[in-house]
Amino acid sequence: MKYQTGNEDIRDGVRRLCADFPGSYWRQCDRDQAYPAEFVSALTRSGYLAALIPQDYGGSGLTISAGAAILEEIHRSGGNAAACHAQMYTMGTLLRHGSDAQKSAYLPAIASGELRLQAFGVTEPTSGTDTGSLRTTARLEGGTYYVNGQKIWTSRAEHSDLMVLLCRTTPREAVSKKTDGLSVLLVDMREVRGKSMTIRPIRTMMNHSTTEIFFDDMPVPAENLIGEEGKGFRYILSGMNAERILIAAECIGDAKWFIETAAAYAKERVVFDRPIAENQGIQFPIAKAYAQMRAAELMLRESIRLYEAGDNPGEEANLAKMLAADASWAAAEMCLQTHGGFGFAEEYDVERKFRETRLYQVAPISTNLILSYLAEHVLGLPRSF
Ligand SMILES: Cc1cc2nc3c(=O)[nH]c(=O)nc-3n(C[C@H](O)[C@H](O)[C@H](O)COP(=O)(O)OP(=O)(O)OC[C@H]3O[C@@H](n4cnc5c(N)ncnc54)[C@H](O)[C@@H]3O)c2cc1C
Repeated sequence: MKYQTGNEDIRDGVRRLCADFPGSYWRQCDRDQAYPAEFVSALTRSGYLAALIPQDYGGSGLTISAGAAILEEIHRSGGNAAACHAQMYTMGTLLRHGSDAQKSAYLPAIASGELRLQAFGVTEPTSGTDTGSLRTTARLEGGTYYVNGQKIWTSRAEHSDLMVLLCRTTPREAVSKKTDGLSVLLVDMREVRGKSMTIRPIRTMMNHSTTEIFFDDMPVPAENLIGEEGKGFRYILSGMNAERILIAAECIGDAKWFIETAAAYAKERVVFDRPIAENQGIQFPIAKAYAQMRAAELMLRESIRLYEAGDNPGEEANLAKMLAADASWAAAEMCLQTHGGFGFAEEYDVERKFRETRLYQVAPISTNLILSYLAEHVLGLPRSF
């Protein structure tokens, strides 16, 4: 198979690390809805989780293709990087828009694993995809912001020390655009958890450690404001291309796992006295999933090329994310069908990966919203909302 190449040493290293965390490990975490703490610790110790943090701040200073290779290989090995992937792109908000003092205070500790920055609080129950309508507020009083409101789907909050939080600092009525007046705060959750911050886990169809969070006059020192007050939406938006690219890489990893797992099983499984792989009815769906994955992989490669050249590849990053999520979901369906009844059995990992990869049709951005971006911003069709 002719897969995307590049970062071979990193890919080999990640594969070796993942070999210590086989399907049985992920199945147990899934069964218990437990955070894969040992895996995240191993990934942190190896330095892979700090791949994108500059060397001056204790990371490896690698580019996004390295981050994509790491996440893809985790997924291709049968694991799930959702437990920690946010650190790679959330850290970018601090890196690009934080002050020198903030970067020096937090990035080295994040790189070493002393602090985890896994939580990203944007989505709210009432606003959903319409981020500009979020209702969580922060009011400044004597050098401290006081935060009130609620977030939902704040993943990994129970396993994170820090959270990047988007909230409204200027009332909606006082700004002309609803995306103005929003600000980003870096919240040290250790100081407020269980006091002014209440975290409630949400059980989901896959193991994702996601939560809802309630803020009741939660104090955040004013020096934890990232960048300028009121410009937070732009800061969050500026990290979206990286997020799309990294999630697309995970989807490509999933698709490869499904294709390789289905091909291996089809060669072994004997029905009517011959391997099922001899039937074109079995071969063709595998070949089709491979074709779909390779096409998405090319778009991912193109978006990485443009991103690393300093472009702002909104179109390509969105295309890569959508095509890769479609490819992984199609491959999941094919893999389950190839396994027949055994696809439903826990011990084959197919049903777990099937549930895990389904998420990427919805989060971190849903397919409809990508189509809407393409329609409006690429094709020049009328704005619909
Ligand atoms: C497991 C999980 C983990 C997550 N982790 C995080 C996290 O860590 N931090 C965070 O901030 N968020 C997180 N999210 C939230 C995620 O980003 C949102 O679920 C996603 O963006 C969709 O928003 P919504 O659920 O509010 O859907 P809604 O906005 O309610 O939309 C519902 C459906 O309607 C469609 N829709 C909405 N408006 C339109 C329109 N104008 N045209 C066409 N279709 C439309 C959407 O595409 C979607 O299919 C997570 C979600 C899940 C499920």
